[in-house]
Amino acid sequence: MPDFQSILRTIYNSATSQIEKGRVATYIPELAKIDINNFGICLKIVGGESFGVGSFNTPFSIQSISKVLALAKAIELVGESIWKRIDVEPSGHPFNQLALLEVENGIPRNPFINSGAIVIADILLSNLKDPKTDFLNFVRDLCGVDDINYNTSVALSEKHTGFKNYAAANLLKSFNNLENDVEDVLDFYFHQCSLEMTCSQLSNTFYFLANDGYCLKNKLRLTRSQVKRINALMLTCGFYDEAGEFAFEVGLPGKSGVGGGIVALLPNNFILTTWAPGLNKKGNSLLGMTALEQFTTNTKLSIF
Ligand code: GLN
Repeated sequence: MPDFQSILRTIYNSATSQIEKGRVATYIPELAKIDINNFGICLKIVGGESFGVGSFNTPFSIQSISKVLALAKAIELVGESIWKRIDVEPSGHPFNQLALLEVENGIPRNPFINSGAIVIADILLSNLKDPKTDFLNFVRDLCGVDDINYNTSVALSEKHTGFKNYAAANLLKSFNNLENDVEDVLDFYFHQCSLEMTCSQLSNTFYFLANDGYCLKNKLRLTRSQVKRINALMLTCGFYDEAGEFAFEVGLPGKSGVGGGIVALLPNNFILTTWAPGLNKKGNSLLGMTALEQFTTNTKLSIF
C-alpha cells in the first residue's frame, strides 16, 4: 500500500506554499469571517485506515456538499419519482443561475445546482415529520457521531442575503414545482447548507457512496444502482460550470461547497475530503482542487 500519510503531507506542503489562495465567499456574510489559511485533507480508505493533515478535524460550513446528502435522503424516502421534477444533465452554468430554469419550465437541470437542491428540500419537507431534526439525525447516523449541528447564524445570514435563492424558489413555485411555502422550503435549505462538519466526518459520512451503499456501520443505506446514479451526478454536475475541469484534472466523482470543502471518492477504494476556504472564480476551493489533482496524478488512483 502507498504511504498515504506522507503523500498527503507532500501535497499539503506544496499547496500551502502556493501564493494564490483564491477568495473566501462573501455573499453569505458569516462565511466571510473564515480564516483563508485553514487547510485540511482527510483520506478514508474503504475497509481500512484514515489519514489526515492540517485542519482536518476543524468543523466548517459544508454548504453545497449537503446537497448530496439531501439527495440521498430524498431517494431513500421516495425513490426514483424525484426524477419527474429534476433533470440529470450538467448545467454548464454557475450554481445560482436562473435563466435555464425559466426556459426549461421550472425543471432544474440537476439536484446540485441551487434550484434542484431547493426542489429536493421541498421533497424532504413533504416527507419528513420533523424535517430539520430528521435530516440532522440522518447525517449523524451516516457519520456515526452525535456532535454535528447546523450553524444558525450562517443559516440566518444566508436568509438575509439569499435573494437569488428566493428568486429560484419563487420561479419553481410559479411552475408548480414546489409543494410547500417558499419561506418554509428556504428555511430548511439554508439550515441544510449551514451544517458544520470536519473533513474527517465528511469522509466517514460519504463512505456509503464508495462502498456500494453500505455505510461505516455496514448498514445498507441505498441500493448499488442508486449509489451509481448519485456518483454519476457528482461526476457530471458536482462542480457546476467547472464539472468538466474537475473530471479532466482529478477524474473522480465529487462535490464542492462555497465554504471551501470538497468531497471526492473512488468507488470501492477511498473517500478524500479537502477544506481550504479560498475559492476560485467558479466558486470551488482553489487549493482543494490542486490537492485533489496532485493526489490522483501522484497515486494514479482515479476512475479513468
Ligand atoms: N448555500 C449556498 C447557496 O445557496 C450554497 C452554494 C454552494 O455551496 N455552492 O448559495
